[in-house]
Amino acid sequence: VTDWQGKNVTVAGLGVSGIPAAKVLHGLGANVTVVNDGDDARARAQAEELEALGIAVRLGDGATLPEGTELIVTTPGWKPDKPLFAAAEQAGVPVWGDVELAWRLRGPDAAPWLAVTGTNGKTTTVQMLASILQAAGLRTAAVGNIGVSLLDAVLGEEQYDVLAVELSSYQLHWAPSLRAHSAAVLNIAPDHLDWHGSMEAYAADKGRIYEGNRVACVYNVADKATEDLVREADVEEGCRAIGFTLGTPAPSQLGVVEGILVDRAFVENRQKNAQELAEVSDVNPPAPHNIANALAAAALARAYGVPPKAVRDGLRAFTPDAHRIAHVADVDGVAYVDDSKATNTHAAEASLAAYESIVWIAGGLAKGAVFEELVAKSAKRLRGAVLIGADRGLIREALARHAPEVPVVDLDRTDTGAMPAAVQEAQRLARPGDTVLLAPACASMDMFANYNQRGDAFAEAVRELGAGA
Ligand code: ADP
Repeated sequence: VTDWQGKNVTVAGLGVSGIPAAKVLHGLGANVTVVNDGDDARARAQAEELEALGIAVRLGDGATLPEGTELIVTTPGWKPDKPLFAAAEQAGVPVWGDVELAWRLRGPDAAPWLAVTGTNGKTTTVQMLASILQAAGLRTAAVGNIGVSLLDAVLGEEQYDVLAVELSSYQLHWAPSLRAHSAAVLNIAPDHLDWHGSMEAYAADKGRIYEGNRVACVYNVADKATEDLVREADVEEGCRAIGFTLGTPAPSQLGVVEGILVDRAFVENRQKNAQELAEVSDVNPPAPHNIANALAAAALARAYGVPPKAVRDGLRAFTPDAHRIAHVADVDGVAYVDDSKATNTHAAEASLAAYESIVWIAGGLAKGAVFEELVAKSAKRLRGAVLIGADRGLIREALARHAPEVPVVDLDRTDTGAMPAAVQEAQRLARPGDTVLLAPACASMDMFANYNQRGDAFAEAVRELGAGA
């Protein structure tokens, strides 16, 4: 679309992506109507602000397609099975998400995109990637489903050489024409299936990130589903499939040899068949799943042409966001680690795999998850488990089946005092050299506002242990 003047655009949903999209489209001269399901005080205040600018807003009716709509720009969170989209399909009206809008408005002109998706590790990987690109002296930012929106990134004042872009499966679903320079799918495990409808649909939406890639499609050698998506993708001629592995890399892969991260895909010096990038100890924290994240970030940076030294410098300069395997304190020889961000079983499995002898604090809202595999795989590492939260019974049952010898304390509490009690119970179970790990495998909203608050409560309780010791 080049001429927005007078075009009838319906924006689906107020909120963090709908409001900026409506303003941008209005500014381009489009005839914008925002439709929104909710009609509460907050929505009314937002509607007033938009109406003052001359944007029409319909509150309490997100289902009806406004007459004359030529394009829908939707909030990525809106489910594809909503009646509004059925009506759009029938009327032949295209639907774009906020990412598609950013791409169509200025995507290819603003800066190339190095894009990352996956069930877990997206934010960490994109931040590592931005850190590496910065270390190479490039003007860049971590954008997308993280901090800065893509609309802001491509339309703002700031000039970028290249963007490190985090994309959720929702955003990808609604971004049919996006074409990245290079992209990575970190892993695929069941999550958000109620939204996508099935595992196949979820994987297919993630796979959209590879469509039209120019230089490299980066996949996880240990996760065959990611490689399958590369195979199915329609890419530009010359675009390469690059794997990352925690083992010894084959040609066209990045991997680890004797504690060194090496690149066998983008070797600059023809005399060599592998290029040294960094040491495992340069990765923070050096847990296996996080080394995988670092390799994925390195692969994308190398695809963009960044030298090996920048990979090392960028990884060294990187510090993870809070509540992602954050070491809180050592008390009486026991390490206390906050991985409150492990809100699903796949993430919790990764963090449990990073330690040898663990007292595991888990539980919360299961979101339909099944805990059998997680518990079976982690059983031998567990010194004990302390369970809190609404769906702790599911974890207790899985422990009884797959780890009957592991002592379990079921706190049977969902109040805010449950966290300090859990930490005290964990302290009782732990021996020197153990790790007490908060990796709930569940969402937090049964007990806390969000995973940040849950992690803060854990850290606070650990500090109290230390003070009392
Ligand atoms: P996302 O943005 O995809 O939610 P984050 O980088 O915020 O991912 O990490 C979320 C959680 O997922 C972390 O706390 C950690 O438990 C887990 N995790 C991170 N990277 C991986 C990975 N590569 N594989 C599995 N789990 C991971």
